[in-house]
This record gives sequence, C-alpha cells and structure tokens, in this order.
Amino acid sequence: MKNLVIIGGGFAGATLAKKVQCRLPPEWNIYLLSETNFVTYYPLLPEVVGASVLPGHIQAPLRQIARHARIRMVKVDNIDFEQKKVFYHNNEAGELPFDQLVFAAGVRANTNMMPGMQEYALPLKTVGDALYIRNQMIDRMEQATIHPEPYHRKHLTTFIVIGGGFSGVETAGELDDFLKAAVHYYKNVRLEDCRVILLHSGDRLLPEISEKLGRKTEREFKKRHIEVRLNTRALRIEADRVILDNGEAITAGTIICTIGTLPHGFIQNDALPRERGKIKTQGDMSVTGMNGIWALGDCALVPNARDGKFCPATAQFADRQARFLAKNIAASVRGKTTRNFSFRPIGLMASTGHNKAVAEIYCFRISGLVGFLLWRAAYLIKVPTLARKVRLYLEWTWAMFFPPDIAHLGFKRTEPDATASNIEVDNH
Ligand SMILES: Cc1cc2nc3c(=O)[nH]c(=O)nc-3n(C[C@H](O)[C@H](O)[C@H](O)COP(=O)(O)OP(=O)(O)OC[C@H]3O[C@@H](n4cnc5c(N)ncnc54)[C@H](O)[C@@H]3O)c2cc1C
Repeated sequence: MKNLVIIGGGFAGATLAKKVQCRLPPEWNIYLLSETNFVTYYPLLPEVVGASVLPGHIQAPLRQIARHARIRMVKVDNIDFEQKKVFYHNNEAGELPFDQLVFAAGVRANTNMMPGMQEYALPLKTVGDALYIRNQMIDRMEQATIHPEPYHRKHLTTFIVIGGGFSGVETAGELDDFLKAAVHYYKNVRLEDCRVILLHSGDRLLPEISEKLGRKTEREFKKRHIEVRLNTRALRIEADRVILDNGEAITAGTIICTIGTLPHGFIQNDALPRERGKIKTQGDMSVTGMNGIWALGDCALVPNARDGKFCPATAQFADRQARFLAKNIAASVRGKTTRNFSFRPIGLMASTGHNKAVAEIYCFRISGLVGFLLWRAAYLIKVPTLARKVRLYLEWTWAMFFPPDIAHLGFKRTEPDATASNIEVDNH
C-alpha cells in the first residue's frame, strides 16, 4: 500500500481528502492529519461572536466529510523529507511514512504584531476565540449594570475592533447588533453608552472589494453609530486602551484584533521553498523543486494561471484549489501530466449586520437586504453536510423571531471539594 498524507483538515485539506478518494488507484491510503477533528467554517465565525449561530453550526466533523480517509487528530511537529516521514503527537508521539505529501495547514493568528497585543487584545481565529469574545461581551454588560460610576459603565461597554477587512467589518456589525438587542435586559446600561469603534489603517473599509461598496459600508455603519476610524494605525495596546501612531489613546473595556496571521512553526522547514512565510508552489500546486510534495490553501503561495497573480487567502480559493489538486495528484501517481491551476473568482460577500450585506458577484454589486439574503443563501449552500445546512437554516429562522441568547456560557467545571468527605449525607 502507498500513503497520501494530507496535513490540515480545513477547507483545503478536507475538500481534497473528499475529492481525491474516488480518483486514486486502490493501493493508495489517504491519511488526513489535523489538530481538530472538524472543519471550521470561518466566514461564519463573527456570527458565533454575535450569538447569531451556535458553534456546532459552523463545525463539520471530518469523519463525516471524508468517509474513506484515515483521520488522525494530531498535531504535526516535523517532516523528514529524506526518510519520507511525518512526525506528530497527540497524547503520544507518532510517525507516518508518506509517498505523496500535501501541506494544507492554513495559518495561525499573529498575536505579536504590536506590543501589548498578546496580553490585552482578543484574537478571532478559532471557535474558542469567538465564544470567548461573546462571553466577554456579556461579562462587560453584567459588570456595567452593577457598577455605580457612569463613566466606568461607559468604559466597560465600549468595544474596539482593530481591522477593517472582512472579519473586522463582520465582527463590528455583529457586536453592534448584539449590544443593541441585549441592552434592553440591563437596567443600568444605556444604549448610547454601548460603543463599537472600528479602527482601520487603510483609507476605506473592505479593501478586498470595490471602493463603492466599502464606502457604502462606512456610511451604513455611521448611520448605526458604529464609529469608523479610517487611516488609523494602532501602535500599542495597553490594559484598557489602544495607542495610535499619532499618540492618541482610545480607551475601551474590550479590544478585539482581527488582523495578522503567521505560518505554522513546522512549515519553517529549511527544505521547503518559502516566500512571505508561505510555501512556494508551481502552477500545478507541486512544491517547487520537490517530487510528490504539494501545497495549497492559506499556507501556500499558488499562482493563478488566469491572471498570473498569486491566489488570495480565501475559502473560495482553498476549496477550488483542493478540487483541482485532487485531479493533479491522481494524474501524477498514474504518470500523467498535471495542469496549472486557473480560476476566476465568483465574487466576495460580507455581512455588515442589521440584516444587511455587501456582495460583488462577477461585475454585479449588491447591498442591503437583497445582499444579505444572497449572503445567507450562498453560505447555506456552502456549509458542509446536509445536517448542518438544516440546523443553520432553522437557527437563522429562529433568530428572526426571538431575542438573542444572552446566557453567559460559563465553562466552569466542578472543582474537588475537600470539605465534602466530612459531611454526612443520606445517599438513598
Ligand atoms: C474570522 C475569519 C473570517 C473569514 N471570513 C472569510 C470570508 O468571509 N470569505 C472567505 O473566502 N474567507 C474567509 N476567511 C478565510 C478562510 O477561512 C481561509 O482562507 C480558509 O479557511 C483557508 O483554508 P485552509 O484549508 O488553507 O486553512 P484552514 O481552514 O485554516 O485549515 C487549516 C487546518 O490545518 C490544521 N492544522 C494547522 N496546523 C496543524 C498542525 N501542526 N498539525 C495538524 N493540523 C494542523 C488546522 O487544525 C486546520 O484544520 C476568514 C477567516 C477567518 C479567520
């Protein structure tokens, strides 16, 4: 038997494992090594922050997506290209020989982009991060409602989001929606004291799409009293404030950071050709100068034959690359020629909260409620597994008629109690 080993069970890795399974000759085993045993549907992560969806709605188990792959929930530590082995660990260390190897490990949040970020800012890269931010929002409302000082109450209910790209805009919109709906349940918190401030270093929001839609989002946010600060670069983060490069300090009870990514440590392998921290590939996604080694998704720098540029780090490209690579790997193991990746992106969409979204589909620009319905329909189609589509549809419908869930999800476990053994109880 021969082994195709895929590192990373995200958009790219999971799709590849699913698509390649019916294309390889029978003597091939497919191994999918991933730190988590599920795919996280990241575009909906801001919705978890705003309690619009539950975490289970945006996580799909790998074992249900790629049924024929051998899934190992492990963290890859190193690769020996000479011995052709991958080294990993979970509770114990292990190794796996490979004949073909695929890097699909994505990127991680860079929490060291500026001083104080690691200590005082909340990143948004995992479902755990999203739930933590949601809890923090509720914590702050609970603290504010019992605080005697009006100034301090206002401070507690001020939220700063750093980054005006897709995830920053969507997070700011979700925060604002949640605060406006939740404030009615907190007697001492005033609506006008709940502030969401969005800091962006560029001169317009959503630089990934057309200027017109970016400006429209800005106007929309201003109408809803979300404070948008453009051309504003954060220099340092302190316990309760962000210091800007012009020396100004903006105070807030919570600071969320949606910018900055880093490659995973094991990718910094000297044998791998890298540029900007990503693995450099040829047009067919084979790693430059290496035989039987491939890379795709956010961890790779893949040229797009359609425009000659490197592919952007988006879910859409990760998915398309995976489908394409499944064919290339199947061709390669049979000694046939591979093809260069070429894809015209369909478009981009961002939900801006308040049942509105902006979308750019080919040359069409759509915004407002129509954009929002389109955004929801698109994600409903894309979310993996039928079970999740149904759950997501029901959850969204439910949320249209009922108030948001403001329960604090305390992750508290029962602690050992030394006094318990001395108390007489009747167990019958
Ligand atoms: C908050 C947020 C919002 C986003 N919104 C959008 C959007 O609206 N539209 C869009 O197109 N894109 C969006 N993206 C980007 C999109 O999610 C990524 O481009 C896409 O996930 C890339 O897929 P990938 O498979 O390369 O990486 P990922 O999906 O990140 O998957 C990487 C996988 O590798 C695994 N892994 C990492 N290290 C190891 C290791 N050492 N050992 C084993 N496994 C490992 C991880 O556990 C994970 O399963 C968003 C991203 C974020 C964070």
